[in-house]
Amino acid sequence: MSSSLSDVTILVPGPIHPRVLARLGETFDLCRIERGDPALADAALRGKVRGIASLTAVNAAFIDAFPGLEIVANFGVGYDAIDARHAATRDVMVTNTPDVLTEEVADTAIALLLSTLRETTKAENWLRAGDWVAKGPYPLTRGTLRGRTVGIIGLGRIGKAIARRLEGFGVAIAYHNRSPVDDVAYAYHASPVDLAKAVDTIISVAPGGAATAGMVGTEFLAALGPDGVFINIGRGSTVNEEALAKALADGTILAAGLDVFSAEPKVPQGLLDAANATLFPHIGSASIHTRNAMADLCADNLVSWFSGKGPMTPVPETKAINRKR
Ligand code: NAP
Repeated sequence: MSSSLSDVTILVPGPIHPRVLARLGETFDLCRIERGDPALADAALRGKVRGIASLTAVNAAFIDAFPGLEIVANFGVGYDAIDARHAATRDVMVTNTPDVLTEEVADTAIALLLSTLRETTKAENWLRAGDWVAKGPYPLTRGTLRGRTVGIIGLGRIGKAIARRLEGFGVAIAYHNRSPVDDVAYAYHASPVDLAKAVDTIISVAPGGAATAGMVGTEFLAALGPDGVFINIGRGSTVNEEALAKALADGTILAAGLDVFSAEPKVPQGLLDAANATLFPHIGSASIHTRNAMADLCADNLVSWFSGKGPMTPVPETKAINRKR
């Protein structure tokens, strides 16, 4: 084991928050490459890397390129871009940044919900374009939160924080997870489609990955119905975006509010064309305050690990891995 953290080489593939770079640079031997591509790492680098900090994809081949790799610290709570299952087979720890972003993302989800229902972006544009003077008051909105039942897909840390806020708005709440949650009284539904049938508003905060890919598609949107509103603050990969654009265009649902997309930063033309879609550029956690807290937790996981204290926030797939080297 290295006697000093400055002897430990940490690799950052691709861009990451500047505070992560500053923290790692002052503590470790920091190396950078353009992206998580094994071809970009020469033999010397492959031989010395013991930790990776990443915002971008870290796949199995990249993990395998570094024989001495002990830990991958993901910047963000969603770690679907990291092959954590493969890392576990190699006894490589994976950490993420839970909790420190929960309240910020829940705030953003509520902003997106209300913007979508009450058309606040379009209403402000109406004012700025001079339409208030030229044409009169902004038209009354068909959308309202009043009387709605909101279903949450992914009642975890962020989902529960959204639900707590919704309680204050006086709406009924239901949810879907793979398993019911013990400590809530909200109605549980065993599938996303069952939940969509039971409510008129969905907020999805489900993680990405194979298990949720395309979960929101034609059947789900038909079940949500013509007064239905779909909000996505989880991952773009959970949505069949073509089916969603069609449902928005033909009135299958009333409106959608989206913070995440499957091929960011590209947004499908069908969604850009939808006047009944409110589109945010993945700003769920994007305040200076919260991104700094995420940067610190990402770096602190590496410091803790290489100080022999174990990971601070391991992901479930690698929780059982102990410090072995
Ligand atoms: P979390 O505490 O792990 O909650 C995830 C929830 O999703 C759990 O309740 C889990 O319950 C449920 N879930 C997992 N797999 C599922 C599946 N296949 N089908 C249905 N439900 C499933 O995570 P979190 O901290 O709340 O974060 C949730 C997600 O939010 C992240 O993974 C990330 O993708 C997204 N996020 C987005 C932003 C943004 O900027 N827009 C910011 C932060 C996070 P079960 O295990 O019982 O299924």
